[in-house]
Amino acid sequence: MKQPLIDLTAQYQTIKDRIDDAISRVLKRTDFILGQDVRLFEQEFAQYIGVKHAIGVASGTDALVIALAASGIGPGDEVITSPFTFIATAEAIQRVGARIVFADIDRKSFTIDPKKIAGRINQKTKAIIPVHLYGEPCAMDEIHKLVSNSSISIIEDCAQSLGAVYNSKKVGSIGRIGCFSFFPGKNLGCYGDGGIITTNDTECAERIKLMRNHGSVSKYEHVMHGYNSRLDTIQAAVLRVKLPLVDQWNEQRRAHADGYRSALEQEGFTAQFLSTRSVSSMNYFTIYVDSGRDELQAYLKEQGIASAIYYPQSLHVQKVFADLGYKHGDFPEAEYAQERVLSLPMYAELTDDQRSYIINEIKKFKKGKKVS
Ligand SMILES: *Cc1c(COP(=O)(O)O)cnc(C)c1O
Repeated sequence: MKQPLIDLTAQYQTIKDRIDDAISRVLKRTDFILGQDVRLFEQEFAQYIGVKHAIGVASGTDALVIALAASGIGPGDEVITSPFTFIATAEAIQRVGARIVFADIDRKSFTIDPKKIAGRINQKTKAIIPVHLYGEPCAMDEIHKLVSNSSISIIEDCAQSLGAVYNSKKVGSIGRIGCFSFFPGKNLGCYGDGGIITTNDTECAERIKLMRNHGSVSKYEHVMHGYNSRLDTIQAAVLRVKLPLVDQWNEQRRAHADGYRSALEQEGFTAQFLSTRSVSSMNYFTIYVDSGRDELQAYLKEQGIASAIYYPQSLHVQKVFADLGYKHGDFPEAEYAQERVLSLPMYAELTDDQRSYIINEIKKFKKGKKVS
């Protein structure tokens, strides 16, 4: 049986007519740039997250860059984030000219450890970017406490956590700004690149709106440095079809995660720890494989089962950030995780039979090879 990590076709089949209609409506209107569906999607998304403003941009990476730039963060400033995330989180900090400061993760949840952040805050710290990794919200109460007497902004990286809830609030409404990605493999994916920024700060929202469109207040009148970073109308039309379905899809993901968890914990594996304060969006289901991880992955591949390592190399040891002066050993928890994590196929349309097949193959391998 061929088992992909994620099956975008399976999802498209369930909504094909509505998607095709939505796209062809845009083709007829030809309002490709900042058209009607963008405006409506922004309103619907703001309402879904529970914030005043949502501003569509060209990608999740751009959402982070523009969130930082609109917060006035640049050269001479420091921004704290996790070394165990997708490159885009740190790349955005570097793009605006600020200094990346890493703080290690918590071993059980894989998310940034507030205790590790505390020692890294100084006069230059302007923002913290907690990354809700694999869909599990960070310890936001503790992070808020760290900045409560300061002007340090919390910018949530919600790229993997659309629909996740923390203390009854959706992620993206907890910090000052939330950044989302609509990359096809995320919880809510469009059919290309796309992203959105959420905030309750009206002034900040105004700056973001200007910045995503060349800093222009009207055609050929530019009041600030900006970007060409808009959410395409065709993508917004696709997203308007999908947004009402995302909670149901996330529910199905969580059911698969529960199934994986109970079966694999019986086998002695540890899955990502999920806090009782939160509801994960379960973008990825990730386990620790303490020894034999790469052999297990190779075995699964032979059986046609895809799996992934998010992430094989923490950011502090990436060549691109060599000038920051970090070295191997600086973030032991991130390095511990990178050697052991394995993410299994996860999407709403996964069937119970597929899941059983994956679990059985892991069991078979474990019996023969003694991984743990
Ligand atoms: C996907 C992702 C991004 C970037 O989103 P793009 O839309 O691909 O630019 C940023 N941060 C995290 C944690 C991600 O997983």
